[in-house]
Amino acid sequence: MNITHAYAAHDAKSALVPFDYTPRVLRDHDVQINVLFCGVCHSDLHQARNEWSNTIFPVVPGHEIVGRVSAVGNHVSRYQVGDLVGVGCMVDSCRSCPSCEEGLEQYCENGFTGTYNGQDRQTGAITYGGYSTAMVVDQDFVLRVPENLDPAGVAPLLCAGITTYSPLRQWGAGPGKKVGIVGLGGLGHMGVKLARAMGAHVVLFTTSQSKVEDAKRLGAHEVVISRNPEEMAQHTNSFDFILNTVAAQHDLNPFLNLLHRDGTLTLVGAPEHDHPSPQVFNLIMKRRRIAGSLIGGIAETQEMLDFCGQHGITSDIELIPMQQINQAYERMLKSDVKYRFVVDINSLRA
Ligand SMILES: [Zn+2]
Ligand SMILES: [Zn+2]
Repeated sequence: MNITHAYAAHDAKSALVPFDYTPRVLRDHDVQINVLFCGVCHSDLHQARNEWSNTIFPVVPGHEIVGRVSAVGNHVSRYQVGDLVGVGCMVDSCRSCPSCEEGLEQYCENGFTGTYNGQDRQTGAITYGGYSTAMVVDQDFVLRVPENLDPAGVAPLLCAGITTYSPLRQWGAGPGKKVGIVGLGGLGHMGVKLARAMGAHVVLFTTSQSKVEDAKRLGAHEVVISRNPEEMAQHTNSFDFILNTVAAQHDLNPFLNLLHRDGTLTLVGAPEHDHPSPQVFNLIMKRRRIAGSLIGGIAETQEMLDFCGQHGITSDIELIPMQQINQAYERMLKSDVKYRFVVDINSLRA
């Protein structure tokens, strides 16, 4: 196929710059996608700057991808040219381990293939992500995007959306359940919207008074300033489930105290330095649990997109041209975005 225009980082210290490459020739089960929008995830910045010490340069980040199918391989049955589709954090997995057989490809015991900075299972080529005008992806890792939603606002659902949807489903968020969401960033704001749509009573925890009104607009029934011990004490032993999206190191005990018996605190924010160990007594006395969760499988990601289509849910976004990606990274480091940057990939076609 033709040359694809992208943005890449060439080393950990440099800004992202224009980068052209030729995607792989379509295999029998491949779908070629004309990328329209790509969300900007904090993982993109970590990888571009090699903060996880595993980046293979040049790296083309981006795993919150929405586009239209522009060509299909000979044996593609699920998609046609023109279909609105999405790609998230994975483009392949081993497909034969117990996790893959259960549709939990994100926990593939042989390691899933990342949408970028991954390694193609057939050729060993390094995968390139959605900061790009085109992609080629196996149909089994392509999602169908509801046509009634704003496609730019859909893009962040492919990572931030499924990262919060999966644990909310796993731990039973729904009518009659009291659910807490800790932190109101890219993940937290999706957690609030999704938990509300699932029918739970939603309480948002923030350290910032300035986020109270916005949290209510997004769907929180109550907002608690987590630095205020009196406010926190009013919710002691009352939560079924708390989803903690904060990626900075902090004390988990104040949140564990809010769970009732058998309640679970699930962590989805990945801190650079681990949280201090919580008090074991706090866990023992009420059979409380601490858990983690990683994105979601392909089938569950499709379920999430369909759920968002039914409930009219998208991410709150700030749309930027690709040429502003480096400034966007700096603003993201200051949490200066409501609530996700999305790149208009048409800016690469001008
Ligand atoms: Zn992500
Ligand atoms: Zn597997």
